[in-house]
Amino acid sequence: MMVAQTKWLLVRLFSKIINQRTMPYIEDRTQWYEGQGLWEDVPKEKWNDWTWQLRNRITLLEQLEARMELTDEEREGCRHANEKLAMAITPYFFNLIDREDPNCPIRKQVIPRVGEMEVSAEEMLDPVGEDSHSPVPGLVHRYPDRVLFLVTDRCAAYCRYCTRSRLVSNAQDYNFHPEFEQGLKYIETHPEVRDVLLSGGDPLLLSDKKLDYLLGRLRQIPHVEFIRIGSRIPVFMPQRITESLCEVLKKHGPIWMSIHVNHPRECTAELKAACDRLSFAGTPLGNQSVLLKDVNDDVDVMKALLHRLLRMRVRPYYIYQCDLITGSAHLRASVCKGLEIMKQLRGHTTGYAVPQYVIDAPGGGGKVPINPQYITKIDDDAIHFRNFEGKLFRYPLKSFKVDEDCRCEEAEIEC
Ligand SMILES: *Cc1c(COP(=O)(O)O)cnc(C)c1O
Repeated sequence: MMVAQTKWLLVRLFSKIINQRTMPYIEDRTQWYEGQGLWEDVPKEKWNDWTWQLRNRITLLEQLEARMELTDEEREGCRHANEKLAMAITPYFFNLIDREDPNCPIRKQVIPRVGEMEVSAEEMLDPVGEDSHSPVPGLVHRYPDRVLFLVTDRCAAYCRYCTRSRLVSNAQDYNFHPEFEQGLKYIETHPEVRDVLLSGGDPLLLSDKKLDYLLGRLRQIPHVEFIRIGSRIPVFMPQRITESLCEVLKKHGPIWMSIHVNHPRECTAELKAACDRLSFAGTPLGNQSVLLKDVNDDVDVMKALLHRLLRMRVRPYYIYQCDLITGSAHLRASVCKGLEIMKQLRGHTTGYAVPQYVIDAPGGGGKVPINPQYITKIDDDAIHFRNFEGKLFRYPLKSFKVDEDCRCEEAEIEC
């Protein structure tokens, strides 16, 4: 234990001394961060009570400044946050911030910066065109066989790059009122809907009783065969993953869940324990990350994250190119960076660790996979392709008929 702690301290000291930006990410794979940090005097029963975590969230500039030194960018950002998306950080998640490091990848996700107020021409309030695919309020039906069901507009904490910041936290007076009955009725009367994704806001902010009711209603619909929940609550507030919540999930299971982890430092002992509880209740777990500038747009950081996810029984599902949400330019990483990371994952590490990189098409085209080019040419003769090391290979096609649609000429895309 002592050795591990000393090693951890040395790693941290080392990373302070050397320039943060040029240094490769060094992970101590033996450590799972644990503890109450700034709140170590709070009794354990309170700390482990999710309602305490919610009541004690940091939501005001003064509360933040009482606990850490802010940069000018952040102070100004906080002053304006309520015009766009409220600020809220649970004590648990706040502890993961390195308060000494202005470039801390955790603080960038939840502390507003003045960049949020800068809006460029390509940015939108509803970047993936959800409102135009919404047959009833709170229900988005974009794909043939599945719907997105927004069941609340509140979260435990607010991600500064939130794609639904138009409605989430109600800072922009969108006045979203989830219409459970209307949504359920739509699903009941649309037999093509076999998959329902509960999101919001964060569905796990609903009480166990409400979730029990909603899941029960969905389970009564014969054509609904797949139910999943998108939630960042395990990451922001693992205390919410109680035995009784797990009972509800088990009762209506299998309920699949996508969590949202962006950086290996978010993979704490508490998150791991929450994932254990969910897994043991029969909830298959996936992860969705958003590619963010100076947070996780780095292959070492991304790999460390993906490896930690596997150790928590979480299958990496998507890496999203950051949507063109208003005021997000300072957090958006480049697509070329994303492609480069994907290239350095496939073949270089466990296949289970490799998620699909997608762009949710601006304006409402849905999620589209974005892949590095492995195919170099398809003709009557063969398919020519590169492997993960860049070496060229061919697989003969002579014995097949190669359709015109399938042919492709020397694709040369280099990012
Ligand atoms: C992401 C999303 C889904 C689910 O997509 P999968 O690729 O099946 O995970 C469904 N509906 C909407 C509107 C979405 O944005």
